[in-house]
Amino acid sequence: MRMSGTLWMISLLLCIALLTGLCAPAAAEDAAADFQAEWKENGIEFAFSAPDYPFLQIEYSSKFSSGIFALLPTDGKFSGSIPLAFVHPGMTVKIKINTADQKTIAEFAPVSPEFEPYPAAEKAESGSLSGVTVCIDPGHQSEYVKKLEPRGPGLSGSKTTVGGMARGKYTLRRESIVMLQIGLLLRDELLSRGADVVMTREVQNAGLDNLKRAGIANDANADYFLRLHADNADSKKSNGIRIFSPYSSTYAKELTDAKTYSLWANTLLDAIKNATGQQKGYAKLNNTYVGNNWAKMPAFLIELGYMSNAVEDELLSTPQYQQLLAEGITDGIEELEKLKKQ
Ligand SMILES: [Zn+2]
Repeated sequence: MRMSGTLWMISLLLCIALLTGLCAPAAAEDAAADFQAEWKENGIEFAFSAPDYPFLQIEYSSKFSSGIFALLPTDGKFSGSIPLAFVHPGMTVKIKINTADQKTIAEFAPVSPEFEPYPAAEKAESGSLSGVTVCIDPGHQSEYVKKLEPRGPGLSGSKTTVGGMARGKYTLRRESIVMLQIGLLLRDELLSRGADVVMTREVQNAGLDNLKRAGIANDANADYFLRLHADNADSKKSNGIRIFSPYSSTYAKELTDAKTYSLWANTLLDAIKNATGQQKGYAKLNNTYVGNNWAKMPAFLIELGYMSNAVEDELLSTPQYQQLLAEGITDGIEELEKLKKQ
């Protein structure tokens, strides 16, 4: 069958039109192709271009905040900020760019940069804690080191290292990361008041068991052993700070009696409560923690809050609150030093 000349002409024009994109729909998928997001302390600043649109709608949602607002371009560019009550490393915010008739023309999910360890601040030449050595033990690590460890000097039996660590029910952050973040702030706060600081770990993959952790504190001849943890509970209402210290290992008994150990733990607890405004919590002596039992100096395992509680999970990852914890713990060491001199 032969095509007529007219049909040939129509086909040819159709091909050219398709090739040159004349027949393609308006290039809506190109809208916001240059989208850029910058993380700030209190939200995200963004900018993008979408030449075909006189106005658009921004819809955003994170685990904690969501909202919607209209946006007009300035000099052909859309820009604005998404306010977030709370920004923590590794958090994601979903952003949709919608037209007035609620058609989504672009979607983004920027993730804020994850926390990275950083070098220690300079130690103050003289300060309230000059001559005092503190060993900080940020709880857990990326890999679980499974090991059967002797419970402690003078105590019978062994105990397998605890495998599970807490994970923020809302932030989804791992306890090992949050505790290292707080541990580094505590390190710098102690250094700023003249203390010497030894860390059991400054990395995630540390390969530590409890005996090694206590061993680092003992080898450094530390005056205090501070072990940072966060709690996890079935009830989302559980909250507060708890401190645990040993009382019947040979090392603990050589240090002091149970009554005095309890006074020390409560002194530290009160200082943290004062600095943070946290009301709830208690200090208790037990022989549960192998790392505590093997410490030759005052040892405090501090459960700084519950990662299963919405408010405390959020607070534990908030830089301002982390700093208050670091200051409160350091205040506590100052109070303990005062007790020592009495
Ligand atoms: Zn823990």
